[in-house]
Amino acid sequence: ADPKKTPLYKVNQDTIEFTQYQLSTSSAASIKQYLYQRGVSDEIIKLFEIGYHPEGNALYKFLHAKKHSDENLIAAGVCAVGANGIHDIFSDRIMIPIHDAYGNPVGFTARTTKQGNEAKYINTAQTSIYEKGQLIFNYHRAKAALRERKRVFLTEGAMDVIAFAKVGIHSAIATLGTACTKEQIKAMKLLRSTIIVCYDGDRAGRQATYKFGKLALANQLPFEIVDNQLGLDPDEIIAAYGKEELLKMSEKTISWVEFLFTYLSQTYNLENYSQRKEFALELAEQIALLPNEFERQSAFVRLQEITGFDMRSSVESKSAPKRFMK
Ligand code: ATP
Ligand code: MN
Ligand code: MN
Ligand code: MN
Repeated sequence: ADPKKTPLYKVNQDTIEFTQYQLSTSSAASIKQYLYQRGVSDEIIKLFEIGYHPEGNALYKFLHAKKHSDENLIAAGVCAVGANGIHDIFSDRIMIPIHDAYGNPVGFTARTTKQGNEAKYINTAQTSIYEKGQLIFNYHRAKAALRERKRVFLTEGAMDVIAFAKVGIHSAIATLGTACTKEQIKAMKLLRSTIIVCYDGDRAGRQATYKFGKLALANQLPFEIVDNQLGLDPDEIIAAYGKEELLKMSEKTISWVEFLFTYLSQTYNLENYSQRKEFALELAEQIALLPNEFERQSAFVRLQEITGFDMRSSVESKSAPKRFMK
């Protein structure tokens, strides 16, 4: 371990304690109310170490009194230097801590409760301990929860991970809106589980699923996709239809190829010959990467039924992929 990093973890740990305390005070009553309204109970607040960062520079004063150097506060990403000296980065936001794979607190994803022009979420900026493309929200807890069933729900945001916790599933993770990277895929592989993609049901979520799938298949990460027909995210599903609906949906999964047939037939115009050919080529490329012979064969049959093309020959020359999906 890098000895320079330890003081930064301590800054974040003290920030967690400060913001937890702030959330418990009467001046944060409306924030508590906001969380309760979203179905976030005291138990969940405690589990995820959720806090509140008030307006102003109270965090700086607190951390300064705790003998952290200004240099470390800046390096940890909780304070910055402006025209009027050092000040807090976060202001009037709900603070959800982010940890690394070992459970060290490395940053925050911070939500405003106001509706307006400001960004809904602000995450800690890149620091020496907060490496955006590598971190996965709730990874350390998910890893610990994987004893019984080897499945991990991959979501977009912290509130979706929290939604799964509300229904007793503690093996959910989030890439926090950023497009999934190869490093994150590698970290997921270390969980030795099937990843169940549960991104938002909207257009952006389906597009993120498409991008994730291509990267995951190319990197031999086993995954399935939740069949989300509701156009909502996991948290919204609970709010609109209740916990049972999310539990039910979490069991309803489709394969990558099934997802692709639906997704790409909306992207390409299959009435058009050139586009039909493009569609066939793109699907064949993905089908060729499938680890199971029977999955490859049935997908090629289906592709031929739709396009008229027998695509087996187009990918024959490529070497047989390694088996990695159950
Ligand atoms: P909530 O349920 O609290 O409204 P969400 O997770 O449903 O939030 P989305 O709009 O679906 O929010 O975005 C997914 C994720 O993308 C968020 O959890 C957050 O990590 C990130 N994100 C969203 N909006 C912003 C933003 N304006 N700036 C930075 N990150 C953002
Ligand atoms: Mn979204
Ligand atoms: Mn969402
Ligand atoms: Mn949401």
